[in-house]
Amino acid sequence: MFDILIIGAGPAGSNLARLLSKQNNKMKIGIIDKRSLLQSTETTNRTKACGGLISEDAQVELAIQGLTLPTSLYVTPQFFKVHIIDFDNQLEGDYPRHYLNIDRSAFDRYLFKLIPETVVKFEASLVTEVKRLEKGYRVQVVTSNGIKIFETKSLIAADGANSFTRRQLIKTYSGADYFSIQAIYESDQHFSHYLGMFDQSVTDYYGWAIQKDHTLQIGCAFPKSEKHAHLKFQLLVNKVAAYEGINTKPLAFTEGANIERFNRTEFAPFSLKDFYLVGEAAGAISPSSAEGISFALKTSRLLAEAFFLEDCVNTRRRYLRAVMPIKFKLLLKRIKLPAMFHPYIRRIIIKSRITAIPPYTTSHRTKKQTKSV
Ligand SMILES: Cc1cc2nc3c(=O)[nH]c(=O)nc-3n(C[C@H](O)[C@H](O)[C@H](O)COP(=O)(O)OP(=O)(O)OC[C@H]3O[C@@H](n4cnc5c(N)ncnc54)[C@H](O)[C@@H]3O)c2cc1C
Repeated sequence: MFDILIIGAGPAGSNLARLLSKQNNKMKIGIIDKRSLLQSTETTNRTKACGGLISEDAQVELAIQGLTLPTSLYVTPQFFKVHIIDFDNQLEGDYPRHYLNIDRSAFDRYLFKLIPETVVKFEASLVTEVKRLEKGYRVQVVTSNGIKIFETKSLIAADGANSFTRRQLIKTYSGADYFSIQAIYESDQHFSHYLGMFDQSVTDYYGWAIQKDHTLQIGCAFPKSEKHAHLKFQLLVNKVAAYEGINTKPLAFTEGANIERFNRTEFAPFSLKDFYLVGEAAGAISPSSAEGISFALKTSRLLAEAFFLEDCVNTRRRYLRAVMPIKFKLLLKRIKLPAMFHPYIRRIIIKSRITAIPPYTTSHRTKKQTKSV
């Protein structure tokens, strides 16, 4: 029997476990993940498909929480701009970005290691059923030692996009609307930017290419209804290869992941009775850039602060109040979506050069070259 059981040990879940146990060591807290986060071997180390860019908002959240990142998490290069290619309008632009380029898998393991010993950790354990009881919740978990059943007073969904826990407890939730494909190519070029690409013939979302040490990570997100995602992804890869002049040697591996992108008007509830949602399970991710680590760190901090009151009714009320600015921010981002994703409006914005940095002539191709790609 737990006081608090967290499902999912991504940035949201691990951070929450760390903060809760710091505040209150009398509560019995557990965290469950289907991945193995302490030992990392080929077979046990499932990697979350992610660009691994720590945004400025995420850096602010790390600062608030007094967290530092060891340089061992960094990958090369660290860049200071995003280079946008708008294939729809044959336009390009550079925009300043102060992201940290990190190894996402190492980041998750780092956060997991920061969870104190007082928290009971279950790795390589898949949650297969969640039920609401009269008081609390019952969680069924499949582990290498068989099936285990836990009960908990409060339950936290930190299991990311397409949250299984959320689908079990909130029947109206139909799952994530988008999914991503990401592939790793050999590349020794150290670009001074990462690429963001818009191309309606590929997707109504966007694609990216990020140098990570000796590889180039190319990714793209598609609506779930897209039937030819792999073909379209290959089309994008070919365009990147032609544009960046990389030699797409055989694929190292391909990853996939769901992405929450709320085009719909409803918000995730964040909390129902003594059930709480944090990070992407709560739909807290930018619908425009898919930046979600800052939201994962922030929602987990806000929930940990709300739990500090140690009274379930107040915890819920306090958390719901605390996440109001996040809901507002997500709403604003949703309103701004057409500026980025409607080709005509995007054309005006890129041409206006608002917030763009001046081009450095030798690093840029001409409009004609972009068109030929
Ligand atoms: C392709 C892609 C690129 C992205 N790039 C960036 C980026 O560059 N920067 C950025 O800030 N954000 C990025 N994001 C978003 C970011 O990855 C997520 O928003 C962030 O990881 C959310 O953290 P989380 O802890 O809520 O969920 P997750 O990181 O998804 O963690 C959920 C955890 O729950 C576990 N889990 C799930 N189901 C179960 C189950 N049934 N039983 C047990 N465990 C379970 C999973 O193993 C996982 O460890 C990207 C997303 C995608 C898909």
